[in-house]
Amino acid sequence: MNHAFLSLGTNIEPRMGYLKDALELLESHSDISIETKSSIYETPPVGYTDQADFLNMVVDVATTLSPLELLTYCQSIEQQLGRKREIRFGPRTIDLDILTYNNENSTVERLLIPHPRMHQRAFVLIPLHEIAPNFVIPIWNKCAKELLDELQESDIKGVRKWMQNDLAEG
Ligand code: ATP
Ligand code: MG
Ligand code: MG
Repeated sequence: MNHAFLSLGTNIEPRMGYLKDALELLESHSDISIETKSSIYETPPVGYTDQADFLNMVVDVATTLSPLELLTYCQSIEQQLGRKREIRFGPRTIDLDILTYNNENSTVERLLIPHPRMHQRAFVLIPLHEIAPNFVIPIWNKCAKELLDELQESDIKGVRKWMQNDLAEG
């Protein structure tokens, strides 16, 4: 069995509805099982800042899918939930990224693992730290907390817990 951490993000209402739908669609795949869900965090947009705040979370999935199969399925969920790509880093109903896959460090076609920008993103590292504090991320060979320590205090402060993970369950 393989383990992957996935990051989910949404900033178009109903944000909570899109997160729930994405989690249900992940679970509905016979080869994917969600093992752990982080709390949900609300975060200001980074990169392209003229847009609404995001809800972000990270989940740990067990899967028999290959990395590319998992990406293809994540992208089919984005399609089903009406994701449009108009502005890079712009508003989205749902973004489903593969952060890591086992301990792999790989590039296959259109997929980079670990996700190449995850180490700069407090909205990814904070929920990852919550569910996997001891997980060492390949390439950087650091856990989420160590990578967080390298970010600006202002980036970290922007990420606010929005819903505790026990409420996010089920
Ligand atoms: P970012 O990748 O910076 O978070 P984004 O998620 O908004 O930006 P998308 O439009 O969702 O970007 O994806 C663009 C492309 O990124 C996808 O078509 C996919 O092929 C590629 N990609 C590369 N590595 C990954 C990864 N680890 N997870 C998801 N997509 C990836
Ligand atoms: Mg993304
Ligand atoms: Mg993406």
